[in-house]
This record gives sequence, C-alpha cells and structure tokens, in this order.
Amino acid sequence: MTIAPDTLPEIPEAEVLREDNGYHAFCGLTCTGWLYQKMKDSFFLILGTHTCAHLMQNALGVMIFAKPRFGVAMVEEGDLSAPQIDITDIVKNIVEEHNPSIIFLLNSCTPEIMKVDFESMARRLNQQFNNVPVLPVRADGLEYTMTQSEDCVIESLLQFCPVAPAGDKRIVFMGAVNDVNTTDLKREAEKLGLPVAGFVPANTIGELPAIGPDTILAPLHPYVAKSITQFSRLRGAKVLQSQFPIGPDGTRVFFEDLARHFGKEINLAEREAEIWRNLESKVSAIRGKRIFITGDNMLELPIARFLRKCGAELIEVGTPYVNRKFHKRELQALNGLRVVEMPNMHRQIRDIRELKPDLVVTNFWEANPFEAEGIATKWSTEIIFTPIYGFTGASDLANLFARALNRHRKLDVLDWKEFLPNNQEN
Ligand code: SF4
Repeated sequence: MTIAPDTLPEIPEAEVLREDNGYHAFCGLTCTGWLYQKMKDSFFLILGTHTCAHLMQNALGVMIFAKPRFGVAMVEEGDLSAPQIDITDIVKNIVEEHNPSIIFLLNSCTPEIMKVDFESMARRLNQQFNNVPVLPVRADGLEYTMTQSEDCVIESLLQFCPVAPAGDKRIVFMGAVNDVNTTDLKREAEKLGLPVAGFVPANTIGELPAIGPDTILAPLHPYVAKSITQFSRLRGAKVLQSQFPIGPDGTRVFFEDLARHFGKEINLAEREAEIWRNLESKVSAIRGKRIFITGDNMLELPIARFLRKCGAELIEVGTPYVNRKFHKRELQALNGLRVVEMPNMHRQIRDIRELKPDLVVTNFWEANPFEAEGIATKWSTEIIFTPIYGFTGASDLANLFARALNRHRKLDVLDWKEFLPNNQEN
C-alpha cells in the first residue's frame, strides 16, 4: 500500500490489547442488504444452506416484497458429494428475470468447509453467460465480519474500473455510502477545489471511475483495507491516510489531509465548530456519559473518537480487527483509551455488569439481555444502515446515541425497574 504524504507526524497511538475471541459479528452475507441497494444493476446470489436463507429472510425480510435483487441457491446434502454443483438454471432465471449487469456469487460456510471449487464454478458460469459477469466473492461468516465482506465485493470490482492515464490526478472515494452521503462528499470536495473521479462501488458498473497511478484513493470506511491495498498495488494509486469522514472532527481532518495531496493547505476549523454548535442539543445528551463499545462492525475506532470528542468517557473500545497501518490516524486520536482487538465476549459481559456504563454499543443478541437488566444499549448494526458520513451525516450520527440515552432516561421516569427480577437497581 502506498501511503502519502510520507511525513506523517509521530503522534502516540492507543495501545491495542489483543484477546482471544472469535468474531462475534453478524454474518458476512448481510452486506448484501446495503450493497444490492447501492449497486442498482447487480444481483447477489448466495450459494448457501437453509441457515443462510433463514438469516437473509429474517435480516432483510422487509424487502422481500420489493422483488429484491438477491437470492439463495440452496446447497443440499447431495450437492456436496457431487463432482460439481450446477446452478446454471438458477443463473439463467436471474438473467431473464432481473437483467443484471453483474452477478456476485457469494459463498457461505458450508461450501467453504466442504471446499467447493467456487472459482471454477464462477468461471464455468462466465463462459455460459458471457455478457453478464459472475464474480465469485468470499463472504462467509467463518472468516468475515458483515462489513469486511463489503471489502471483498469492492475488491472484485477493480477489473471494471477503466485505467486512468498518468497525470489524471483525481479522487476516488472507496466504500459504499448512500446517495445522500455520496452527493455531500462530492460537493464538499469540489467546493474545496479537489477533483473527484467517482466512487467504488458506484450505482452502476458503467459509472465506476478510472483508476491509475495518480489517483488518490480516499477510504470512507475502516474496513476497506484489503481492496485499497489491491487497487494501490495493481494500479499504483496513492492512498490517503487520514481519519475517516465520520463526525465533524473526522470529516475536517479527512478533507484537510485530502487537500494536502493537491498541494493545498486548508483550515476547516470554523466549519467544524459550526457543525458542533448545531449538534449541541444531541451532544449534550452524550457529554459525560460512560460508554462501552463491545465491537463487531469495524466502525468502532472512528465512532469512539467521535464520542470522545462529544465529551463521553469511553470505558472500552472493542473491535474485531485493527490494521495498525490503515487505522493509524484513528489510533492516534484514541491515545489513552482502552482499545481491545478480538475482545473476549464473556469478560466483556462480566465487566459491563460490574462497571454499569451509561450506554453499551453492541450487537443485538447482547443488547436485548442488557436492556432487560436495565443497561441502555445502542445496536451496532443500526450504525451501518445510517447515513453518518461527512459534515451533513454528523447529525444522524449524534442522534443515534442521543436517542438511545434519552429513551432510557424516559423509561426511568416510568419506574420500569420494579419489573426487573428481584427488583434490581441499575
Ligand atoms: S454463511 Fe455461515 S454464518 Fe452466514 S448464515 Fe450461512 S451458515 Fe450462518
């Protein structure tokens, strides 16, 4: 990965403790939920089992009636002992019914464990349907968190990005964000005189931007390290190393660093201050609160940095994975905090019960039991589906936490604790 500028200031970073847990994250297949909506000419076909189908139906079931552009090709026991799994008819139906420009073929745990030759399967389908590319993508819940699988999908898109000639110095934003955030980020860059080539992923395959040796790849998420590394290695593009554009503080640093790649020194202090002023009613609900992040969506580092700026006390910042190089600037901003990679879930639950934070940011299977014990929670999955990027996304971001805290405060007024087992106090 080529990271510029080379002269990054040497600032102390948060020390990262590593524990022993596996990921306690939502399955990688769930990235389908936001990616099929983002890429409007795509189809996501999962090679999975009944378990995967149930997950997709339950997690994304609300969209079933909208003729969604995703589906599960069910692997039965007999398929696993067959020389090859044949899904030609399923793909034929998808092509006829949905007319996609691209099909992502996602594998799941069972084919992965059974060592199904996924790449050859996609190659065969590509020969049969040669005007609709079928791209094999690893997104199984064994290896990837729900957000890291987005990284795998993006990585597969490089081949469709035209090659930009040397001298074409423009920004390519990396990471799926919704149309509102896309427009805001582009407008912000252009207002500062920074040329934008586009976004990966784009709304359609034909809109993917050109990438070449002078492209500046600007990561929007902390979980696109793999695709950024590939794009940089294969096309020689430069990679922006900065904070992620989450929260007014991160967005300011992101654009100031981006401008430096174009030889511009800009100062967005006043812009940042104005956004904080507008957020005050929400920030005041967060200020002084003790917050514990258990960690599963890979957005924990920038979220913790934002909450700290709001004046919260972060008891622990758990996260599935830290890439010391890619997350360097966020780790610098978290210096002094307890950051735990692959945290032990049982130890975290014990600590939360003992320390009684004001808010726990966690996955939903831990959130509901904590709520029942009187501990306020925020579902980490909700953060993924909220447009939190850029200066304009800051309001939605602050609102996620302020709303959870305010709701809990209102419940207290209702004297609901008398319904807790043994009438326990929070
Ligand atoms: S891919 Fe694995 S973790 Fe995901 S739903 Fe299927 S079986 Fe479960």
